[in-house]
Amino acid sequence: MKSELEKVAIEYGDRVKVISIEHLKELNDIIDNFKEKAELNNFQKWIINKLYQFETPEYDYKVNSIILLAIHHPFYAKVDFHKDGEKKTFFSLVRSDFNKAEDYLRKYVEEKGYSIKPAKNLPLKRLGAHSGLAKYGRNNITYVDGLGSNFSYAAYFSDMICEEDTWGEVKNAEVCNKCNLCIEKCPTGAILKDKYLINNKKCLSYINEGPGKFPAWIPATAHHTLYDCLICQRTCPMNYEQLDNFIESISFTEEETNMLLKGEPIETFSTESKRKIYMLGLDDWYKAIPRNLKTLFELENLINTSVN
Ligand code: SF4
Ligand code: SF4
Repeated sequence: MKSELEKVAIEYGDRVKVISIEHLKELNDIIDNFKEKAELNNFQKWIINKLYQFETPEYDYKVNSIILLAIHHPFYAKVDFHKDGEKKTFFSLVRSDFNKAEDYLRKYVEEKGYSIKPAKNLPLKRLGAHSGLAKYGRNNITYVDGLGSNFSYAAYFSDMICEEDTWGEVKNAEVCNKCNLCIEKCPTGAILKDKYLINNKKCLSYINEGPGKFPAWIPATAHHTLYDCLICQRTCPMNYEQLDNFIESISFTEEETNMLLKGEPIETFSTESKRKIYMLGLDDWYKAIPRNLKTLFELENLINTSVN
């Protein structure tokens, strides 16, 4: 049976789990054990050794739980750019509305006499998968029933008590046992046949969110988004119900397009331009956007890859 909080989250299009804080130490041990056994590249080691934090913070309340939200977002947006009098349309990912989600969660817990504080640097996908909220796909992305992969996690330390402990082994999606679609479609060969950990250094999202020129081995046709990559998620049967969940009406004028191509500081954009930039999450990878957008324009001129 769904808890009251789970029903609230569903009303907002999201999902939630309250996880007993006792599992944080267990999760630390699981990650330590994983680190010993798995063959990890330097980036993956950095994430585990430097980024993740497993300490329970001390607040003016006793931390009893981690509240994990899966906050929905549209699958993608088709974004119009205007340049030299012509309109080109490219894909972008869309940011979840973290503020709105935090507001309704805070209102709910405070009305019950509890508190929340954001929990940073936790391994959120692992938390999601152990808590029963999500399951892993072969592409190392987690999927939530009713949302597919179209959500972002946010976690909070709270004094709220976990009333139903659903913690368990990580679940991999059963559908993956008879499916190879993401492996076949991944343009960079990043998804591995024998494990659910991808070669993240070959993943387009790792490459197009970082600095520098694109490596020559990436096929030109791989580039299709302003940042990140949508190919394995659009291919995945677990997202078929999400395919129509996209935004079609975002447009950057010629002036805005030129400013983005030049990487002009975000504060110099108009309020309306900034709203679009934040909504699409371009600010998270802003240094990469001029190169990525330029690449999409160049490709479009070469092979007509723009979204129709
Ligand atoms: S495309 Fe198929 S194998 Fe890949 S994550 Fe989705 S269901 Fe699993
Ligand atoms: S996000 Fe793109 S590049 Fe990365 S594994 Fe999926 S299809 Fe491959």
